[in-house]
Amino acid sequence: MFQKLALIGIGLIGSSIARATKLKGLAKTIAISTRKAATLEEARELGLGDIYTLDAAEAVKDADLVIICAPVGAYTEVMKQIGPALLPGAILSDVGSVKVHVIKVMQPYVPEGVHLIPGHPIAGTEHSGPKAGFPELFEGRWCVLTPDPSVDRIAVDRLISFWGALGSKVEVMDAAHHDLTLAITSHVPHLIAYNIVGTVDDLEAATQSEVIKFSASGFRDFTRIAASDPVMWRDVFLANKDAVLATLQRFNEDLTVLQQAIRRGDGARLEDWFTRTRAIRRSIIAEGQDDAAPDFGRKH
Ligand code: NAP
Repeated sequence: MFQKLALIGIGLIGSSIARATKLKGLAKTIAISTRKAATLEEARELGLGDIYTLDAAEAVKDADLVIICAPVGAYTEVMKQIGPALLPGAILSDVGSVKVHVIKVMQPYVPEGVHLIPGHPIAGTEHSGPKAGFPELFEGRWCVLTPDPSVDRIAVDRLISFWGALGSKVEVMDAAHHDLTLAITSHVPHLIAYNIVGTVDDLEAATQSEVIKFSASGFRDFTRIAASDPVMWRDVFLANKDAVLATLQRFNEDLTVLQQAIRRGDGARLEDWFTRTRAIRRSIIAEGQDDAAPDFGRKH
């Protein structure tokens, strides 16, 4: 399908794309570039590509598909390197979890004739690095593309087919709408997990409670999310500041309502609330976005 795919950054997402592309024969050549020599060596040992280089410009040379798979805070540096080397007619995409900010950062470096089609696969785990990837990561998961309406439709369709071949369902969306939606469904839930795990850790020291021993009572589900890559998530919050802060404001208001219900002994309010949220979990399972097995299918 593509002559040469260049992946800039080869962590969880980049290495999963490399594995799935190879398995499904979606590119003749896969070129891999990353920042650190040790990470590049790891990718080589895992056999993720055909060309390995620390020079990002070298990786994108003659590539008809380039996907940036680095933390969004690294985009300016990456674009400065690859911009002048991009092939006219190539598709330039990414997998960053924030879209308005990355478009602003990428656009000035995109040469005439290169199709900028930002993307975000809504798939991941709490692990990072080249070893963490696996080819099935995108199967049945959504991938959102946020091209400007002026971008060549044939190029957009080619990228939709690529993600479809990786197993994703694809949706094209406005970048600002993406950022608000993801602030609600992903970014703020991550912040809440980072917060609760930090708070519990502080309280453990104060109360000498047995947090690890009794973690199965709910806490450990938060710890999975709170184990997500610190650099990636630092960048997400800095880059999606407005949407995250607006969603947090709403979250705080709702938390106050719950706090008030507890203080006033308003059981009916609490029960109504929890009945509504239980239905949301069930609809996520019905949509095939999670497993119906109790306790996420954990072995007990
Ligand atoms: P990751 O496993 O930590 O991998 C990041 C990769 O980027 C590493 O190979 C790292 O290489 C490289 N990198 C860092 N700075 C770089 C630079 N300046 N130039 C070139 N490469 C650089 O992270 P990930 O989970 O794959 O996330 C990558 C992107 O996917 C992020 O933008 C994130 O927002 C997005 N995303 C993540 C998830 C998720 O659940 N994890 C889901 C969807 C989208 P070195 O070791 O060489 O520094």
